[in-house]
Amino acid sequence: MRAHTQMLLTAAAMMLALPAVAANPNAPSPAQVAEAKALLGKGVGFNTAQGQRNTVAYANFLAEQFKAAGFAAEDITITPVDDTAIMTVRYRGKGGKRPMVVTGHMDVVAANPKDWTRDPFTMVEENGYLFGRGVEDNKFDVSMVAATLMRLKREGFKPDRDIYLMLSGDEENAGNTAPLQAKIAKAANAEFMLNSDGGGGELGEDGKPIGYGVQGAEKAYADFEVTFTNPGGHSSAPRPDNAINNVARGALAVAGYQFPVMSNEWTLGSFAAAGKTTPAPMGPAMLAFAANPNDAAAAAIIGADPMTVGQLRTTCVSTMVSGGHAPNALPQRAALNINCRIFPGTPVEEVRKKIADLVNSNRAPGAPEATVKAVGGWVAGDASPLRPDIMKAVTTAVQARYPGIAVVPSMSSGATDSVFYRALGIPSYGTAALFMKASDSFAHGLNERVPVDAIPGALQQWHEVITTLAK
Ligand SMILES: [Zn+2]
Repeated sequence: MRAHTQMLLTAAAMMLALPAVAANPNAPSPAQVAEAKALLGKGVGFNTAQGQRNTVAYANFLAEQFKAAGFAAEDITITPVDDTAIMTVRYRGKGGKRPMVVTGHMDVVAANPKDWTRDPFTMVEENGYLFGRGVEDNKFDVSMVAATLMRLKREGFKPDRDIYLMLSGDEENAGNTAPLQAKIAKAANAEFMLNSDGGGGELGEDGKPIGYGVQGAEKAYADFEVTFTNPGGHSSAPRPDNAINNVARGALAVAGYQFPVMSNEWTLGSFAAAGKTTPAPMGPAMLAFAANPNDAAAAAIIGADPMTVGQLRTTCVSTMVSGGHAPNALPQRAALNINCRIFPGTPVEEVRKKIADLVNSNRAPGAPEATVKAVGGWVAGDASPLRPDIMKAVTTAVQARYPGIAVVPSMSSGATDSVFYRALGIPSYGTAALFMKASDSFAHGLNERVPVDAIPGALQQWHEVITTLAK
């Protein structure tokens, strides 16, 4: 995913000024812009969707570019994992500080050429846009970071610390590769991680910048399967402990329960920024909650809106149901999938126990207890600390592009690779350099696109952020 999940940001427009002034030392040359665009175009040409077995080829292509820019072969590692791969590129520093890591993912969501207006695996430039699967998510920022590291190598930049680029290969599906890379980052003693697939900037429909979010926390994802079993029998002889009825009672019990209100410095910072420009009653409630997270009246207003409730608490919702085996038989089994988005700091097991308690205490008298199990090995991580050095580096770089723009903390409701790094205690920050309009974002959908003029500013931003934080 790419986090255009910053719905709070859309309201965070602040005093916006003129386009960035020229002569910024981080600004790319026309040749560097052309190189980055070509990297992106070649990257889109590799169909790295699940099962296509093209990720190693894409990684090999990137490796050749890194070698041509002066990286030693021994500092580039491509490790096949199942039918995909991970790639690690090490930019050696002087070793004065612990390493930093920049991450992204090489894989894309599947795209069927029959459904697309243009071939999804040929980057096409049209009307100021670049079209193609992955051109936004996440090959844009992956290409911008890769081009920046190559440029820095050619410029002779010597960082104080090692910089690792770590690209995962199945972020959009199984998510098996990022945990491996997080372990590699941990073994390398990484101090922090910047995720090119999180955070980012938003343009208004008029093309003017609205705001930029640094993602420092995310909800953890978990599915729980609730299963009621029953001896069943003939449908002409109904019994009170009917398994389907119990699933229905369980679904309603979960729907009626509110997890406790929670907050962290990312959500409070986000509410404080969005509250300034959001109409009443939501805006004042956001400001009141940011000032006092124990304000129950403010929390009630925020929690009543589906667009903001996820920033307030763990949420669980019934998403799938199955059960029964014949129209004229009592069900012997009925099951419910409950999908939860867990607030940082809450263990997955604590949520599972709560669901088990809710469905079992609301089951019909005499019915056997439901089994409630987590489906898949989901991990949860704490929010990362809001580090002033990182916020300052990103804010300065973003405001060099768009003077006066608000750079605000954010917590995403969706999951990114960062969760695996945070789970190992590596503070992680979503700092994508892509700015676009919400109405232009078709990530995961048809005719995915990015504005072609997003490239120079993104290159400038990564150059500034990486040189500032690696120095
Ligand atoms: Zn993504």
